[in-house]
Amino acid sequence: MKTQVAIIGAGPAGLFLAHLLKRQGIESVVLELRSREYAEGRVRAGVLEAGTIDTLNNLGLGERMMREGLVDNGLDMRFNGRTIHLDLPGLTGRSVRIYGQQEVVRDLIGARVNEGDPLIFEAEVVRIEGIETSAPRVHYKQGGEMKVLECAFVAGCDGFHGVSRASMPEGVITTYTRAYNFAWLGVLAKAAPMSDMTYVNHDNGFALCSRRSASISRLYLQVPPSDRPENWTDARIWDELHTRMFDDGRTEIQEGEIFQRDIAQLRAFIASPMQHGNLFLAGDAVHIVPPTGAKGLNMAVADARILARSMAAYFSSNSRAELDRYSAECMARVWKTIRFSAYMTGLLHRFDEHSPFDRGMQLTELDFISQSEAAQRAIAEQYVKLSDVAD
Ligand SMILES: Cc1cc2nc3c(=O)[nH]c(=O)nc-3n(C[C@H](O)[C@H](O)[C@H](O)COP(=O)(O)OP(=O)(O)OC[C@H]3O[C@@H](n4cnc5c(N)ncnc54)[C@H](O)[C@@H]3O)c2cc1C
Repeated sequence: MKTQVAIIGAGPAGLFLAHLLKRQGIESVVLELRSREYAEGRVRAGVLEAGTIDTLNNLGLGERMMREGLVDNGLDMRFNGRTIHLDLPGLTGRSVRIYGQQEVVRDLIGARVNEGDPLIFEAEVVRIEGIETSAPRVHYKQGGEMKVLECAFVAGCDGFHGVSRASMPEGVITTYTRAYNFAWLGVLAKAAPMSDMTYVNHDNGFALCSRRSASISRLYLQVPPSDRPENWTDARIWDELHTRMFDDGRTEIQEGEIFQRDIAQLRAFIASPMQHGNLFLAGDAVHIVPPTGAKGLNMAVADARILARSMAAYFSSNSRAELDRYSAECMARVWKTIRFSAYMTGLLHRFDEHSPFDRGMQLTELDFISQSEAAQRAIAEQYVKLSDVAD
């Protein structure tokens, strides 16, 4: 099989890239390790920045997001029983939208399949050959058989554990990492959510109350990295959420059936450069952010937008100039996004290594933000618009 762009991975990065390329008249084949059901059911991110909303709408695929997704106009941060309310449209002119990553993925897969464009599930890429040549070959296993996809470019959109980053020749990539010594216990509950996304810095640790729909809450608690979901009974989760959110009367957070729970480790990771020869990396394959700023999905979409534009410039002009700038163009934004996510993580979590002085600084920073519109605007702008890029 032959195509112009071989896309490895049908997560947000790979699927947005496939649709954006098609809009430019560029053919691609998407190879996805998992089944369609698995890919469409994977619960992860849920906050769409303004640029991600616009991209889905510009592709003509935003109808369900606009109908079912929830507009989020506020971001609240609590500490010492006080609430800082960030009025997102007032501070930035835009809002974010709450629409689960699995819904975005379902819409993108549905459109690709309906249009009859190649998207092969249960196809595991095992090797990428010839990335320094003009005809790379992607070797994948499907139904017990080895197959080859020939292409002009390979887009490695296969997440943190994929094969693409590992296919870069030794010495090409430099990595930068920060591991946090805590994790997030995340649950989905059939319970009416609080109206605004609400982060809290409590003596017991961080918590977050967010929404997935008008009747589904997405709730998180900071836990030790070695903790396990089964250590947390429903009653313990609700008690801890009420306590950390300063919901002393237990009236603010609605309880309901918890039907999904997982634990995610927090880390920051960047690999640079994001390209070598004719292999280009995008999304979690090349960077991971701690989820405190809700950026992972939005970063993946921004990468896909720049890569699609750069590939389109190559196929229309035969000049590699824009393509050669792909990594450099992404990196400045990636570092800023990691910086924001690390800032929010540092501001809102309890760290074992913090001294009373460090704790005092953290709470004073929150107090300062509560009194400074400039500080609030800086956070709101980064929360709403950081991943916006020119198409
Ligand atoms: C548990 C969890 C919770 C998260 N929660 C949040 C959140 O609350 N907020 C937030 O902003 N972000 C969150 N994130 C991050 C966000 O979901 C990711 O940043 C986003 O999924 C990145 O998209 P991607 O397309 O780059 O990678 P992925 O979504 O990981 O997609 C990669 C795809 O490649 C496929 N693949 C892997 N290896 C191969 C192979 N060898 N061959 C073929 N296909 C392959 C995978 O099956 C997968 O479908 C979370 C991530 C995780 C893991």
